[in-house]
Amino acid sequence: MSRDPDYKRMIHSARWQKLRRDIISASPLCERCRAEGYVTAATEVHHRIPVEQGFNRMEKKRLMFDPHNLVALCRACHVKTHTEMGRSGKDATRKRNSEHVQAVIRRFYGSDTSDEPPGGVFLNGEGVPVNLTRTP
Ligand SMILES: [Zn+2]
Repeated sequence: MSRDPDYKRMIHSARWQKLRRDIISASPLCERCRAEGYVTAATEVHHRIPVEQGFNRMEKKRLMFDPHNLVALCRACHVKTHTEMGRSGKDATRKRNSEHVQAVIRRFYGSDTSDEPPGGVFLNGEGVPVNLTRTP
């Protein structure tokens, strides 16, 4: 499902296999079906915030193993959820990346960004260089 190498490594780990079993035994019915009034056995565990949205390995690990980020679903609901997330998920990743760049800029120049920014070239969330130098 994901091509992220950290995700791939973690999804095959013993820690994940065990957590996945624990989540499904704690919540044996698909939560999405249950919300719609159906009773379906949960067979898969879904990450509410996709693991690959983590910026570094530590954040990915947190998203991967945080029980609050997990929900037990049936196969059909898992597929449906990912289809719905497709477009909006990509936008969310882009937005987070751009917020990350803003945070780096703030950290670099101090907290006050309301003044005219000093010159410099930065990469935006999509890796495109942004020149902060103002042209007169
Ligand atoms: Zn379901």
